[in-house]
Amino acid sequence: MRKIYLDNASTTALRPEVVQEMTRILAEDFGNPSSTHSFGRSAKVLLESARKSIAKQLNATASEIIFTSCGTEANNWILRSAVKDLNVERIITSKIEHHAVLHTVEMLEVEYGIKVDYIALKPNGEIDFTDLAELLSQEGKTLVSLMHVNNETGTVLNLEKAVRMAHDYNALFHSDTVQSIGKTEIDVQHLGIDFLVASAHKFHGPKGAGFAYVKKNSGLQPLLYGGEQEKGLRAGTEAVHQIAGMAKALELSYLQLNQERAYISDLKKYAIEQLTIAFPEMKINGSEDGFYNILNVLLPFSEDKTAMILFHLDMKGIAVSRGSACQSGSVKPSHVLAELLNEEEAAKPSLRISFSHYNTKEDIEDLISALKSIG
Ligand code: PLP
Repeated sequence: MRKIYLDNASTTALRPEVVQEMTRILAEDFGNPSSTHSFGRSAKVLLESARKSIAKQLNATASEIIFTSCGTEANNWILRSAVKDLNVERIITSKIEHHAVLHTVEMLEVEYGIKVDYIALKPNGEIDFTDLAELLSQEGKTLVSLMHVNNETGTVLNLEKAVRMAHDYNALFHSDTVQSIGKTEIDVQHLGIDFLVASAHKFHGPKGAGFAYVKKNSGLQPLLYGGEQEKGLRAGTEAVHQIAGMAKALELSYLQLNQERAYISDLKKYAIEQLTIAFPEMKINGSEDGFYNILNVLLPFSEDKTAMILFHLDMKGIAVSRGSACQSGSVKPSHVLAELLNEEEAAKPSLRISFSHYNTKEDIEDLISALKSIG
């Protein structure tokens, strides 16, 4: 059976060059980068080259890149330290952030008694800038945390405008850029952003590696205590092979960005056209002009198909993701779709189809024939 992977917002296949780089390091460069002997020095060179390479892609300086184990860790660290160490009293965020942000903010509310304001959303999931300005005009040291590209709907935030607005009111700005780093140009100097985070496995790198961009002199303090790694900001021996793999993956993503973005955008356009022909009542969840690799659709199927749809597709070798989580037989829409859809829509099956340069038009055609046999 031909297997089809259309779940690239969830994770991506490693590029062969990344696997090659990582296996070479695992076999040949096992030194601890904190050791002063030649084995350690050689690992340190790999680590610092990776840092420089990543910084260059984002127009940051190397010392502003802190390696973490994943995007979740980077989000947790920044939000927690902003409250604990930078005296942030209030966080402005949205109800459709990833749980790595939402659950962290909820815990900070309980632990530190901070105020949390959830920004108003438009029906397509875009934030309401008028509401942001209104919230920012209120008193108190504030951090704004808004994701760049929504992982479920692909809705894109105008990051430049949002950062400028926050800074006009002296608020700090953190963005969960896990879905956009490696897939669109990001220039931290131009944006003037305070914090952003990335995860290697979303841009054809390994799992278990991520990083935070932390603007110089931010005052952030560590989440983990121990050794002096990462200038004391993130203790623990660095996973050199993962980090070097991440740097390689990011370098290749940006090297091939124009070409791959054009190819993937074309695939998404084709998927919308073909789905509309097959299911004229189909609706796009989120904004029509969402990010080029994510398409979330509400299918005009009966509610009783909702629970089974992923299972049926999986039986045919097709991996996509559902916008709803099935819990013991009943189907609960995702927290993101629950914010954007009405009750009747939310009960129907929604699918998140997310593409990479490894997909083909044939993958889309096979997905649609499989859907036709279900609907
Ligand atoms: N933020 C967003 C927007 C994501 O899509 C994900 C991954 O699902 C994460 C954070 C978490 O990243 P990681 O898997 O590296 O912890």
